[in-house]
Amino acid sequence: MSRPEPDHRSDRKRAAAERGAVEIVRALRGQGKTAYLAGGCVRDTLLGLAPTDFDVATNATPDEVLELFDDAHAVGKSFGVVIVRFGRVSLGETAGSPSPAATIEVATFRREGAYSDKRRPDSVEFCGPDEDAKRRDFTINAMFLDPLADGPVERRVIDTVGGLDDIRDGIIRAVGNPADRLAEDHLRALRAVRFASRFGFAIEPVTGAAIREHAADLQGVSPERIGDELRRMLGRRVPVEARRRAIELIECLNLAIPILGSEQGVQLSGASWSVLDAIGSSSDFPTTLLAWLHDREGLGRANADKASDRLVARSRLLRRSIVLSNEETDDLVGISRGLVHLERGWTGASVSQRKRWAASDWFDGALVLLNGRNPDAASRVQSDRNSLASDPIGLAPEPWVSGDDLIASGLRPGPDFKERLARAYDAQLEGSAATAHEALQVALADPD
Ligand code: ATP
Ligand code: MG
Repeated sequence: MSRPEPDHRSDRKRAAAERGAVEIVRALRGQGKTAYLAGGCVRDTLLGLAPTDFDVATNATPDEVLELFDDAHAVGKSFGVVIVRFGRVSLGETAGSPSPAATIEVATFRREGAYSDKRRPDSVEFCGPDEDAKRRDFTINAMFLDPLADGPVERRVIDTVGGLDDIRDGIIRAVGNPADRLAEDHLRALRAVRFASRFGFAIEPVTGAAIREHAADLQGVSPERIGDELRRMLGRRVPVEARRRAIELIECLNLAIPILGSEQGVQLSGASWSVLDAIGSSSDFPTTLLAWLHDREGLGRANADKASDRLVARSRLLRRSIVLSNEETDDLVGISRGLVHLERGWTGASVSQRKRWAASDWFDGALVLLNGRNPDAASRVQSDRNSLASDPIGLAPEPWVSGDDLIASGLRPGPDFKERLARAYDAQLEGSAATAHEALQVALADPD
């Protein structure tokens, strides 16, 4: 697979966000306030990665921030968060090089009260940066950066929690007591897995032990938030290696059962990760989920029908347990069913049938499943697909015959239309009809 084109648009957006964040810091400083870049963007900068977004933290109150910027609105004023938007011209761009709009979160330094809903603090109190660092989840996420100071980045960092050392040593460590911090918001268990897998970091042993010991508490976190975290660690944008590491960590921290639901929490019986090993950089989130489910349940030992039925059932459960979209659920079910077509149906199927399958949305995902189960069969399907795609007719040409053509030929619309059109398209795909006219004759012929 070729690598995707570099995304210049998102590079420009990121540059605009960074400029916006620095402008905000400068404006706040101009008012005599303390202001820094905070959290993930500091971590990413220290790691030499391009941050996805830039957050600002300040001792200015939300009202003061709202006052200072034209295009600002409070998203959680009681939590101290204001969103500031920079449009195309407000950063003094010249007319020739307009900059994309940027949205920056400006948060007032805060200390948090108890988490009785296990998601948000009951109350917040505004404070200074040292206290604010203590409410953040991991040391690597709890640093600030002064973007206006001179000197190397490490010297412009304000680190009161040992984050710089942990970045250097590659460690995910809770800020404060790990069990207490998890009890506040158990999603942090999955955030630990996401950061550890993304950066190839180790989870510090006491933090890891607390995650494992309290793994069952993840069940109390809303399924939407769990699903979002999984998408962020198992989606197409994530390198395959990092996806595998995430799944390994989830398994070894005992988080799979609370994520997948107790019914899906079968014991791993010497699972071989053969399908997971077959996913590639173009494999999407549904395919990665299915690879994981397939392998952890040892479905490599089941025949295609059984494995497919099981995966369809699992997919339906996942829809609720991690809140999948309709499209994601359809993809999971389509890929699971497609496995049977590729593993059992392919060899005996007609050219038109194989072309239809090869052009289906589920084909790539089902081929990954097959590849993990039976690499020889998968390479036969793949090379057959390539030759079908390179014949002059192609895999999925525009149909020559439409319903309008049947009406124009004097047929009355009715339940037989679908079958007639399918027959004409089959003839087109097979090459048994060489022209649109011949395909129309196939459609018009009465079924035997
Ligand atoms: P990403 O690159 O994925 O956006 P991030 O670290 O920026 O990573 P965000 O969810 O954008 O993550 O949050 C920004 C910052 O807010 C984090 O760096 C962290 O300091 C803090 N934070 C976010 N979620 C939590 C949480 N559940 N518990 C404690 N602190 C959190
Ligand atoms: Mg972020």
